[in-house]
Amino acid sequence: MNISKIKKTEILSNNEIGIDRASTIIKSGGLVAIPTETVYGLCADATNPDAINLIYQTKGRPPINPLIIHVFDNKSVFDIAHKNKIAEDLSSKFWPGPLTMVLKKKINNKPSITKNAISGLKTIALRIPAHPVFRKILKKCNLPIAAPSANLSGKLTTTRFEDVLSNFSGKIDAIIDGGPCPIGLESTIIYIHEKNISILRPGKITEDDLLNNDFSITKKSKAKKIISPGQLNSHYCPKTPLRLNAKMPNLNELLLSFGPLPKGIVGISLSEVSDINEAAMNLYSSLADLDELAIIENKKTIAIHPIPNKGIGVAINERLLRAAYKSSNKF
Ligand code: AMP
Ligand code: MG
Repeated sequence: MNISKIKKTEILSNNEIGIDRASTIIKSGGLVAIPTETVYGLCADATNPDAINLIYQTKGRPPINPLIIHVFDNKSVFDIAHKNKIAEDLSSKFWPGPLTMVLKKKINNKPSITKNAISGLKTIALRIPAHPVFRKILKKCNLPIAAPSANLSGKLTTTRFEDVLSNFSGKIDAIIDGGPCPIGLESTIIYIHEKNISILRPGKITEDDLLNNDFSITKKSKAKKIISPGQLNSHYCPKTPLRLNAKMPNLNELLLSFGPLPKGIVGISLSEVSDINEAAMNLYSSLADLDELAIIENKKTIAIHPIPNKGIGVAINERLLRAAYKSSNKF
């Protein structure tokens, strides 16, 4: 299908009518952006190769970057992937929720996940989401749903309806206006090998959450060999270059502060009260707003306060490092 063709993007309400319509579109091979507890997702039927192609084309996503597949319940997870004790334990502690597990795919998985959704790998990343809108859509569709973040590949992730609209109006079939996403960062991705787990991408579920629940974690050096396709150095980029760990902005910079914005400084606060979870929720939307503000104020760079590397702060810092990767050559 030719995606340069302009589509009429339906704006759906966060109610039964909107959810019904979104499910009908997904079942017939279309793309719908919906809110999840982590970030907005761009949803398609994971058993339909044409629908999955549309995701890759619309996002400009390299085909080697596999998608996370979302299902309604444990039974659906283990119809698709091999069962193991750690996966079952993790599932009972953290699902439904912001956790993705990379598991070994069954050869005859049912329903059959299309190869292009998982870049032809023998493993598959699965999640049972908690957001009520996503759960209702999964139940109504009765299908596994591929849902990468609803943004152009490599650019800022979207956590607000208006940002999804500005990225995808005229390019996808529908968007559900479900307000801001409560967590604001992508799911924690973990890989299970033998009796250990490794964190491939940090998120709301932290290393401490896993350790406190008696899961043992393999440190990075040992986990090096694990293939984690699509984890590019440069990712989550706003248009404006970033300068990390800045105490104060220079004259030509805006400030993204942690804590109140200092007097006379132009910028946005991630959290006035230095709450790390609030900061995570506001991260991507603040960067989107700062991109606009940079044009209005004629500023060249966004300076960003140091963010405490605790709890979800680890995930914020991981995202910021990738978001600043291209800018870091400029300083
Ligand atoms: P996103 O869709 O932007 O949330 O990114 C999903 C990420 O999940 C990808 O970038 C991959 O790093 C990761 N992923 C998906 N499937 C696998 C897999 N089978 N093995 C390892 N990582 C995976
Ligand atoms: Mg993404």
